[in-house]
Amino acid sequence: MKAKAAVFMGPNKDFEVREFPVVSAPSGYARMDLIASGICGTDIHFHNGKLSVEPPTVIGHEFVGRIEDVNPDEAAAYGLKLGDAVIADIAVPCGECLLCRTGDDANCVAMKVTNGGSIDESPYLWGGYVEKNFTPLANLIRIPESVDPAVAATFACPGPTAFHAVRLAKRGGVDFSEVRVAVVQGLGPVGIFGVMYLKSLGIEKVYAISSGKNAKREALALELGADRVFSLAKEGEEAVTAALAAENGGLGVDLCFEASGAPRAIVQGMDILRNRGIYLVPGQYSASGGVEIQPQIITFKALRIFGSSQYSIPDVKDYVAFLEAHPELHSKIEKLANKYRIDDINAAFADAKSGSNIKTMLVK
Ligand SMILES: [Zn+2]
Ligand SMILES: [Zn+2]
Repeated sequence: MKAKAAVFMGPNKDFEVREFPVVSAPSGYARMDLIASGICGTDIHFHNGKLSVEPPTVIGHEFVGRIEDVNPDEAAAYGLKLGDAVIADIAVPCGECLLCRTGDDANCVAMKVTNGGSIDESPYLWGGYVEKNFTPLANLIRIPESVDPAVAATFACPGPTAFHAVRLAKRGGVDFSEVRVAVVQGLGPVGIFGVMYLKSLGIEKVYAISSGKNAKREALALELGADRVFSLAKEGEEAVTAALAAENGGLGVDLCFEASGAPRAIVQGMDILRNRGIYLVPGQYSASGGVEIQPQIITFKALRIFGSSQYSIPDVKDYVAFLEAHPELHSKIEKLANKYRIDDINAAFADAKSGSNIKTMLVK
């Protein structure tokens, strides 16, 4: 038996689709058959050369599949069995550093990943862009029967990313019941999920700011609960800032959730937040250049700013539980992914990069 994988050959180069032998799952691992595997903004940064990884390798970290080969006793120790649909989380915190020891393993300073294995050594198939994937059992999160695994795959990384940002704010003492007006900056997958999630927290007004390049994303944000979408392209940054700074009787908004990755968004976020406003910043995930800020705003407004980069297994479990608790969202989520075969990886990437898709996923 053979399985295909899309191999990353370096920044701005085409992927190569190669076939690999399918071997049995090594002890401590499960072998999964692909259901759906998303292309993340992070992967696009690798391809643009904004983040670096050594080629040739298989990138991707949003693999959702069905367990097809595993030692049943080993699987049972993790509450898993043959045939289970699972999300494969790639993060392996060290367990020993200061961050791990203080309950902050998503921010481990010696983080390893499960998708960094060599494509030249058995079992070959790591990463997300594969028809078969090998992942340690400790990194598999079971998807309950009531959730379609393809639905779970759609926000397999953006969902936990949003959960972790909120988790860090809560650890920092933020009480989300005090948040009445929130703004999501950017309507990529993290922003779209952010709209859904913030709305589910009972926040009265959830607004979104879009670049205005993709009307589909704006329509979707409204469908998923955004109270209004502001378009930077149509309305202009100044008008959007003025409208949002007028919230709360002219104090500004309670919370901003930065998901655009545009450095300039930080300036706007600081301008529209009220005194003691909460700024969640999970979205600046690449070196995209600097921007001039007015640091005194942080002081004078006494802002609460929370960066957030990775997530860990509790966040993935929270994401799955969220989907289980919100069946009314499943059909909406299902429609928003554009699906491609592994063979069509280069077309999938071109479309993901152009921004024409909302979420790009590889399927069998
Ligand atoms: Zn991701
Ligand atoms: Zn650690």
